[in-house]
Amino acid sequence: MKSPFAKPARQPKCVTRPAGETVSPFDAPTKKGNKYGAKKTDCQHGHKHDSRKEARRCNELHMLQRGNAISDLQNQPQFWFVIDGEQVLHENGRRVGYRADFQYKENGKTVVEDTKGGYNDNAWPLRRAIFRALFPDIDFRELK
Ligand SMILES: [Zn+2]
Repeated sequence: MKSPFAKPARQPKCVTRPAGETVSPFDAPTKKGNKYGAKKTDCQHGHKHDSRKEARRCNELHMLQRGNAISDLQNQPQFWFVIDGEQVLHENGRRVGYRADFQYKENGKTVVEDTKGGYNDNAWPLRRAIFRALFPDIDFRELK
């Protein structure tokens, strides 16, 4: 006798795609852009930047450095969050930190820049607040 629960197995939802292709639409290669919708862009110096704005800023900063307005230009400087001598960790053990877009020296002061001010990262306001608190001597600039 048929149980009322013995329904036909439900087909998993899937998206129609050409035979042989096994990539889910959610982790397909992001040729058009990253998850924030910005377009990966090369600058004149061979870096792959996360957005056109960031690549343009990289070109500008290299020009400023050539003109000696700034020095020690770095891409993607990484800052780890260390509180009372202890590296802050995520639940999975990964270190908590912040990777900015650029760092350089201007008039003897260290400047850090971020060009992705408007992106959809819920953790960004908190990350920015902690970064500012831990690195008070850095002149932090967010380019909108
Ligand atoms: Zn660049």
